[in-house]
Amino acid sequence: MLSEEYFKRCLKVAPGGVHSPVRAFQAVGGTPVFFKEAKGAYLTSVEGDKYLDFCQSFGPLILGHRDDEVQAEVMRMIDTMWTSGTCESYSLELAEWITEHVPFVEKLRFVSSGTEAVMSALRVARAATGRDKIVKFEGCYHGHVDSLLVKAGSGLASGGSAASSAGVAKSTAEQTLVTPLDDIEAYIQVLDKNKNDIAAVILEPLPANFGLLEQKEEFLQAVVAEAKKRDILIIFDEVISGFRTALGGMAQRLCLTPDLVTYGKVIGGGFPVGCYGGKKEYMDLVAPMGPVYQAGTLSANPVGMVAGLTTLKKAKHENIWPKFHERTAKFQKEFNSWSTDQGYDMRLKTYGSLFWFAEHAGTIRTTDQISPKHGERFKHFFKSLLGQKLYLAPNGFEIGFMGNAHTPEIMDEALEKFKKATVAVNESKI
Ligand SMILES: *Cc1c(COP(=O)(O)O)cnc(C)c1O
Repeated sequence: MLSEEYFKRCLKVAPGGVHSPVRAFQAVGGTPVFFKEAKGAYLTSVEGDKYLDFCQSFGPLILGHRDDEVQAEVMRMIDTMWTSGTCESYSLELAEWITEHVPFVEKLRFVSSGTEAVMSALRVARAATGRDKIVKFEGCYHGHVDSLLVKAGSGLASGGSAASSAGVAKSTAEQTLVTPLDDIEAYIQVLDKNKNDIAAVILEPLPANFGLLEQKEEFLQAVVAEAKKRDILIIFDEVISGFRTALGGMAQRLCLTPDLVTYGKVIGGGFPVGCYGGKKEYMDLVAPMGPVYQAGTLSANPVGMVAGLTTLKKAKHENIWPKFHERTAKFQKEFNSWSTDQGYDMRLKTYGSLFWFAEHAGTIRTTDQISPKHGERFKHFFKSLLGQKLYLAPNGFEIGFMGNAHTPEIMDEALEKFKKATVAVNESKI
């Protein structure tokens, strides 16, 4: 097995053999499959097997792997310019397209990852308000920036919370206040107790990094309104949901306007691009206009810029969003009625092109509503799917991504595989 040989070598040169922990098979067991090629909805392993891919690099590939139109523009840019460290017009085109289509983004700055976008947006919020504390919600992920690698302590209104990563300074973690999702009372309490210290509230308007925790619209409206009432900035982290749940992301879906927004994933069409933006008065605080320093050698990389722009233009031209919704809704209806008929408790949750399997008939809105057996059961689910040559992210708390390359025929084929995997979970008796 080539994958096993590669993995042995990787273990010697990289921690855990990987360059991002979410790629490891720690949560599911076994050796990671190594892939050598990707096209559309499929990945090809180093052994030469073709896998139907619903990980899709964790979200950037809204048109699937190496879409023909995107590839053509990327190849053109490869023959034109790689990086220059100068002014150029390629980032201008993407910036104009975004500011034109997402009206509350009056100005923006490109960076190279979602983490960088979030880190910079927090800095702007602190500079704009002269306050230090940030409120985040339990179960929301905002990249690996120190101050947001924090989970809820039980005393959520009591100030600093325990960091969920080693190496984060206590004084940094103390700047982050964590409050549960779907609990407006707890949130208001945190705001009231700390109202003169809070710079911003950051949230994933569609939490999608700890399963898919769709929130009530009234909750999200109240989160925004209560912050605005107290002159606290609202940052929507739309690194996953931006351009994927709608052209204008969750802000558009919910008709809510954040002060600042962060994008990543889809915006680079498969290349390392992130972005933060929002109201002009805040973005003008960024250097060289203002006192907030933020820079990047490879920022607004031309290859990423054309990949992103071509992806977004094509998505808009083909109006992919209702199509996504239709495909997953059918998929969900068929799977859930089958699972119910079988007497199984596994249900498919979806939001547009995002999906997640969990043991719960209703909507799961908080992490503590997830079955304690989910992780163990997912191992069997994942193993069965991998055996059927279907690749999901190797962790039961990651969601699945479909895209334009996942045709209705492919979705039908996937449905049968997911049914088989559900049978395997039930046979495991966990
Ligand atoms: C992926 C993600 C990030 C981090 O982006 P990277 O490009 O991995 O640094 C931040 N926030 C959310 C909501 C994400 O899904």
